[in-house]
Amino acid sequence: RPSVMWFRRDLRVRDNPALLAALDDGPAAALFVVDPVLWSGAGDARRAWLAANVLALAERIPLSIRYGDPLDVVPAFADKVGAERLHVSAETTPFGVRRDAAVGEKVELVATGSPYAVGPGLVLNGSGSPYQVFTAFSKAWRERGWPEPAHTPRSPDLVDADSHQKAVTMLEKAVADAPFDLPGAGEDAAWRRWRSFRDDGLATYKDERDRPDHDGTSRLSPYLHLGVVHPRSLLAEIDTRSTFANEIAWREFYADVLWHTPESAWSDLKPALEGMRYDDHEDAVEAWRTGTTGYPIVDAGMRQLRDTGWMHNRVRMITASFLTKDLHVWWPVGARHFLSLLLDGDVASNNHGWQWVAGTGTDASPYFRVFNPVTQGKKFDPTGDYVRRWVPELAHLPGRTAHEPWTSDVGYEHDYPRRIVDHADERREALDRYQAARG
Ligand code: FAD
Repeated sequence: RPSVMWFRRDLRVRDNPALLAALDDGPAAALFVVDPVLWSGAGDARRAWLAANVLALAERIPLSIRYGDPLDVVPAFADKVGAERLHVSAETTPFGVRRDAAVGEKVELVATGSPYAVGPGLVLNGSGSPYQVFTAFSKAWRERGWPEPAHTPRSPDLVDADSHQKAVTMLEKAVADAPFDLPGAGEDAAWRRWRSFRDDGLATYKDERDRPDHDGTSRLSPYLHLGVVHPRSLLAEIDTRSTFANEIAWREFYADVLWHTPESAWSDLKPALEGMRYDDHEDAVEAWRTGTTGYPIVDAGMRQLRDTGWMHNRVRMITASFLTKDLHVWWPVGARHFLSLLLDGDVASNNHGWQWVAGTGTDASPYFRVFNPVTQGKKFDPTGDYVRRWVPELAHLPGRTAHEPWTSDVGYEHDYPRRIVDHADERREALDRYQAARG
């Protein structure tokens, strides 16, 4: 009897153990379901990115694309093709776990592999508990290791199953409505990106990765997010003690944290700051969202996010620090905004990245660390090129002056907004609030 390969965050044919398991299990039909809940929560760019990658997969293999609540659509599809079992790669987010448990009550669900080199929950310390801090986790993660990449079926022998035209049209429309040019979709594009980074960027990654004015990182996060490429495939080609492997380990760590504490998706991981007083002034948050705070590196980052669906890691930290510590806004407000726009928007990496910056997450004692947006800008974008690229009102200012328009006679001649808050004042205010919250 046939089985079903239900694709979710694993939109690839290469190194896909769940697909191999489905193919071993008799003739298999492949399915992707556009879930209205996820679809309606995503911004245009994010939808377009998902749609483009689903359509790219559908060009490679016979893939049935449907729209609707997976709880109804998936069992109905299994029934239609006469399948007894569904094959998936394990989903470990709270949303995915709940959904899979509900679908699994209707049809048998067989999980093989996950979107991670080491599945969440598998790295434990000597007494069988999860690691709380990254350094200890990453050491144990590396020692535990992971399997070699799975082989790639040459021409996967999949049963032809028709798509629902309405669902396909919806995806095509999402791609056509993309608000800006997206990276190339699909596995071949992901592998081209990886190879070019591996050959030209990996050797200098350690020194270049903190420079938003340079193209020094892999830009693979949007592909990793949808499983267009698997991290194990990348780790198989590099030194696993390298800085790059360490960044992959951060992704695995945050997935592990979310697995053990699902509630940390949207509430403070550490209760230490539970009494913290937050502000809720919509005008300031809107200035942050639109990149009009008057702080050049913050505004550059927020516009890069809006205009490309990606933001450099260093600038994610600076913009997150600005919202939480200069504007005193609770981190989920920012996390939600990022998630709706980032092509790589991922609840584990994003929300724990936010918690790390906010001081409620996995960092040891960071409440006193408040990023100064001006010194951070001058240090990590020393040329000012990053700011000039994203903030045209500052394009006329040379070098580091772009980070301090207030020091130039012509700083505001193209209507760049004045600073909405005074950083020194807000830093003191943030520290006072933290002191009060911690008693
Ligand atoms: P590279 O530097 O080339 O790194 C390679 C890969 O390692 C990345 O693709 C990513 O999968 C992983 N990685 C690198 N840094 C981190 C990190 N700090 N945490 C977790 N994984 C990491 N990353 C996401 O994938 N999705 C998100 O939604 C996300 N939100 C973030 C929000 C905030 C506030 C912060 C501070 C960081 C966030 N990150 C997120 C982590 C990081 O910024 C991005 O992974 C990185 O910028 C992606 O670009 P890249 O692929 O060129 O990274």
